[in-house]
Amino acid sequence: ATQYGIDKALKELDIHAENHGTSFSQNFYGQGKMISSYSPVDGQLIGKVSQTTAEDYEKVIQEAEKGFKEWRKWTAPQRGEVVRQFNDELRRLKAPLGKLVSYEMGKSYQEGLGEVQEMIDICDFAVGLSRQLYGLTMHSERPGHRMYEQWHPLGVVGIISAFNFPVAVWSWNTALAWVCGDACIWKGSEKTPLTSVACQKIAARIFEQNNVPHGISSLITGDYTVGEMMTSDERIPLISATGSIRMGKVVAQAVAKRLGKSLLELGGNNAIIITPDADIKNTVIGAVFGAVGTCGQRCTSTRRLIIHESVYDEVKHAITDAYKQIKIGNPLDENNHMGPLIDKDSVANYLNALKSVKEEGGNILVEGGVLEGKGYESGCYVKPAIAEAENHFKIVQEETFAPILYLIKYKGDLSEAINVHNDVVQGLSSAIMTNNLREAEQFLSAEGSDCGIANVNIGTSGAEIGGAFGGEKETGGGRESGSDAWKIYMRRQTNTINYTSELPLAQGIKFDL
Ligand code: NAD
Repeated sequence: ATQYGIDKALKELDIHAENHGTSFSQNFYGQGKMISSYSPVDGQLIGKVSQTTAEDYEKVIQEAEKGFKEWRKWTAPQRGEVVRQFNDELRRLKAPLGKLVSYEMGKSYQEGLGEVQEMIDICDFAVGLSRQLYGLTMHSERPGHRMYEQWHPLGVVGIISAFNFPVAVWSWNTALAWVCGDACIWKGSEKTPLTSVACQKIAARIFEQNNVPHGISSLITGDYTVGEMMTSDERIPLISATGSIRMGKVVAQAVAKRLGKSLLELGGNNAIIITPDADIKNTVIGAVFGAVGTCGQRCTSTRRLIIHESVYDEVKHAITDAYKQIKIGNPLDENNHMGPLIDKDSVANYLNALKSVKEEGGNILVEGGVLEGKGYESGCYVKPAIAEAENHFKIVQEETFAPILYLIKYKGDLSEAINVHNDVVQGLSSAIMTNNLREAEQFLSAEGSDCGIANVNIGTSGAEIGGAFGGEKETGGGRESGSDAWKIYMRRQTNTINYTSELPLAQGIKFDL
């Protein structure tokens, strides 16, 4: 850890061996049992965080509700100014925070820095947004009436996030929700608790300097039972949950039961269609980065390549060749392309998936396996694998959160490839590689990809914050980040004002007294 500057990074982020997770200000209120965070990089204990108890939670939610009542009175540009300062601090601490993300989660240091850059970008976006948050004006059917809509802060927003983007997903939600005037309570993943603590510390420090009321940024820590405290709590009008489809189905039902709103960002099963007109060189770069980046643990990771038979062998050889170049090892060492999986459960899922694909009749092209020996002591390092498979295989239909890529052949025209492409329950990210305008437009048309994200001549992963991010079908339908995703963090009010001395009714109804 010392070798890669982790100790220094932890110090700069004010992370100690024992951090009490629960907090709604710079002070910590955790009383629960301690949960340990081990690095998948070297298996070392990084630190401990106390799990939020029901009593801790009650303090947090009450403080959030109280804080919200004040915060909603601040003007949106004033709230934006606080986010601007928070962003300055993120810029200052980009390197240590990126390093901690890399060390606690296992993605490469470059990707850790990239994640913090996404936080910076969304904060910039949110600051601009704080002078927009536009509503429409309408023409009333009644004379002397004015109609318009305005957007008000919603209340307390609960954010539940996954381990694989331990800081960016929080910021996509919270930066927007803050300028919208909401209080946010965040439960990060129990697999990456220290990155959450580091972020909360930065926010709490800047918020206190600006006299932001307590509870506008709060942190609760622990497993799903802590998440459940929020999903069942009617004081929280919106739950934004990022994670597996399994989790989303439970959360959606808990929130719907009390008629709350949920924003769901769930699993993907992302594919690239490679047509006879594809640029093969770019295809290989996009596909390999998409499949092995973050060790196959992005919601937008490329899992399936749907390749036309006329270029199938060429693509197959180019990709298998490229896999030979991939260096696997400590993600803090910038020479490595791929770090470890998050934990040993994840390694077991990966091995099971490889077994299943063989059992279902798949043909392994690049053997997987767990790496052993020096540098691989954590037991979480695996080899990226490629298998030829059929789309209908049960294992291909599932999202295995690991670097396994399936090659699927198509024979007919693009419609056939699109049918195969859409024939999965998930609908997050998709791409087509083609220089043929007709094919590209067909893929993007109403009869094309059914995903929330559809790209041409780039891969499935690596979205920018400017667009709305999310997917359809069992991916959950939520949208976060850019475009008008902010609207979910506010409540819309339609206002009609009569400035005449009459009281005409809508639809011409007469009601004479
Ligand atoms: P996970 O579903 O195991 O956990 C995600 C979060 O949900 C954790 O904080 C967990 O504690 C919490 N949780 C689990 N069950 C809960 C419940 N019943 N009530 C309340 N909270 C609960 O997912 P993971 O392994 O951390 O992350 C990987 C998954 O996340 C993948 O499926 C990936 O595709 C998905 N993901 C999706 C997006 C997206 O934007 N669509 C982004 C990142 C990750």
